[in-house]
Amino acid sequence: MSAASPLRSGAASSDARRPAVNPWRVDLRELGRRAGSMHELDRSAPAPDDWRVELIGVPAGTEVHLRLRLESVMEGVLVSGEIDAPVTGSCARCLEPIEDTLSLDVQELFAYEGSTTEATSEEDEVRRIEGDHLDLEPLARDTVVLALPLAPVCTEDCAGLCVDCGQRLDDLPADHKHEIVDARWAGLAAKFGTDASTSSPGAPGEGPTTEEN
Ligand SMILES: [Zn+2]
Ligand SMILES: [Zn+2]
Repeated sequence: MSAASPLRSGAASSDARRPAVNPWRVDLRELGRRAGSMHELDRSAPAPDDWRVELIGVPAGTEVHLRLRLESVMEGVLVSGEIDAPVTGSCARCLEPIEDTLSLDVQELFAYEGSTTEATSEEDEVRRIEGDHLDLEPLARDTVVLALPLAPVCTEDCAGLCVDCGQRLDDLPADHKHEIVDARWAGLAAKFGTDASTSSPGAPGEGPTTEEN
């Protein structure tokens, strides 16, 4: 309850004291430009709303955890460490909801304005330091989005859905199967139009199988 308590919390105090307008932005003034100086950063930042691919992504606003080391080097600041991002989505085979946390390693150089690295690199080839700040969001975004699977699965051996009834095969008995409609009935169904085939669960002869459910 005490408003003063954040000031006493040791290592996190330098981050906590300064109300961060944007937790993705890092103030480099404390780190300084002397090569070899280092700063550890441990904070959470809310995910923007575009960290996703088709079936899976980081829900907007959820906390992404950053554990990074910022190292002053000749050309800029070397950022390395780990990013933990919660992801939710659905299985590409059976559509079950998926929840997971991605833990990803990062290592990237942010170049100083006017450094040789910046001068000799194309605009989109290198991350840049803006004044005395760097923005971690594009780095985190690229790292996370590149790691998102295009076809996520609930389990490695997910069997998917039954092509006949659309139920999840892993939830069904191993011997689950459907009576194949006899070719003669199929012909009859065609003759009477689509109604005959859609009402087939109630048709005589199929009774025993549907009764089991
Ligand atoms: Zn699945
Ligand atoms: Zn089925």
